[in-house]
Amino acid sequence: MNLILLGPPGAGKGTQAVQIAEAFGLLHLSSGDILRAERKARTELGQKAQVLMDRGALVPDDLILAMMVEHIGRAAERNGFLLDGFPRTLAQAQGLKSRLESAKMRLDHVVSVEVEDSEIVTRLTGRLYCPECGRTYHEKFSPPQVAGVCDVNGEKLLRRKDDTPEVVRQRLETYHRETKPLIAYYGEQGLLRSVSGVGEIDEVTARIKEACGA
Ligand code: AMP
Repeated sequence: MNLILLGPPGAGKGTQAVQIAEAFGLLHLSSGDILRAERKARTELGQKAQVLMDRGALVPDDLILAMMVEHIGRAAERNGFLLDGFPRTLAQAQGLKSRLESAKMRLDHVVSVEVEDSEIVTRLTGRLYCPECGRTYHEKFSPPQVAGVCDVNGEKLLRRKDDTPEVVRQRLETYHRETKPLIAYYGEQGLLRSVSGVGEIDEVTARIKEACGA
């Protein structure tokens, strides 16, 4: 099964993608995570992406498409792929469609995880992560046992540079302008399933599974 999780930044796509990929045996491909790994490794792509990411702008379509197509090629060893954070523009979606057609692959479901903007701002601006193990926390909703410190390894928790209120606003604007049109695009192809992203993590996971016919 090949899936896309669509939704605004902070809709919980990353958290849900881990659960869904595990449940269905899919290769989880998060474009944001892949880009952050490229930055950490200081590759040419990572360095090009850095400034754009830090100000909440999108990385150019051709770079993202090439990066993701390369990763999708590895899904053959699994039960399929789950894309998280990609595609984010109409051009990316159209590029993906033609690459999948050439590879005789197809999408099964595009799940749109829906959350209001005001909720997104609260979620993202309170988000913290451990630079060592990657675990994420929220200052209000899922705080660590000791403020500012990872429960797993005692590392000092950090805030993503793009989770500041100003950059979050910018990312939401980018989402509405560039990514939201994909809802109509996949709706016209009969692939869209919409679920509410509000509620407990497990409740949202159950909604996504059901939307995928599981
Ligand atoms: P995310 O972790 O999905 O919120 O992505 C973090 C940042 O990486 C975004 O704000 C963009 O700068 C960049 N990025 C991730 N995925 C894409 C994509 N599909 N197209 C363009 N830029 C992307």
